[in-house]
Amino acid sequence: MSNIRFLLSGLLACLLFNGCMKDNATEYVVDADFEEYVQRFIIEAAARGMEIDFSDTGLLIEYSDRIVDGASGYCYLGEHHIVIDKAEWTALTDTQKEYLIFHELGHCELNRRHKNDQFDNLLWKSLMRGDPLIGTQLNIPVPYHGFRKNYYRNELFNEYITAPVWSNPSFAIDDIFQSDKELIIERQNTPRVFEAPTEVGENFEMEFQINGLNSVPFITELTWGTGSQGFFVRIYRNFGTYIGALENGKDQQIFYHPTKDNLNKITVRQRDGMTQLFFDNNLIYHFDELPFNLTNIKLEAKDGTGALVSSFSVESFNLNKIL
Ligand SMILES: [Zn+2]
Repeated sequence: MSNIRFLLSGLLACLLFNGCMKDNATEYVVDADFEEYVQRFIIEAAARGMEIDFSDTGLLIEYSDRIVDGASGYCYLGEHHIVIDKAEWTALTDTQKEYLIFHELGHCELNRRHKNDQFDNLLWKSLMRGDPLIGTQLNIPVPYHGFRKNYYRNELFNEYITAPVWSNPSFAIDDIFQSDKELIIERQNTPRVFEAPTEVGENFEMEFQINGLNSVPFITELTWGTGSQGFFVRIYRNFGTYIGALENGKDQQIFYHPTKDNLNKITVRQRDGMTQLFFDNNLIYHFDELPFNLTNIKLEAKDGTGALVSSFSVESFNLNKIL
């Protein structure tokens, strides 16, 4: 199914090859496209008391002239040699590029192997997660984004670090009361939501009561932010839900949840610097707040051709300020 293949292509697969040490592997040859991310790696290492200097080992990072099993990158173990797929690289956000280079340098410079441990909520413990992945593990991205980045950077340089507080969140739908809210926009029985609110403020809540999700043949998509930047929730028929960030036309998937049907209510709450997402009043995921004012909200159900699905409707939509 081509749509799913497309989904998985953003998950930053990586392959390892056993190389043999070259005698002359002390040259530093890094394509200009990758240099900034190598420098970030050196800076993050230094911030954790680790001095990285490639003058002794050399470093070769280059584009591949072939695609290997759809991998975004690969590393020759035992050599400081990383190869990146050009088509995949071009499609990545800045954050994903950093993730990919950090992961590959985790192999090449820090001599780390893949580590596929997960927290109770299935979030990965390490950005060194990789082959072999089994079952729904294949669908789950590393949430290397926003406030979680610092933990993954810490773990990269010290894999025995303690679990972060976000691995066990305690947000609940009844953390706030109706009296804490001030209604800004209200809609009822509409085929979709398409709003351009103003002056929403930093703390707000969007509540969508939906009908007919189970009849949607392809995707039900909620986006909010400015239109070109912000966050998305994409519920795919027969697959599950991706939550992610929009970055000027590029997408970063940051969380997978198996919900694909039997959902009646979606709540997005931005409060105290955090976004909380609830499905039918249960916390699904929490992530950063929007870095700008909310000016665009869209919820639509579409078939494989992009046409709106007439059997889907929004029974009610409320946008509230949280006081
Ligand atoms: Zn890898």
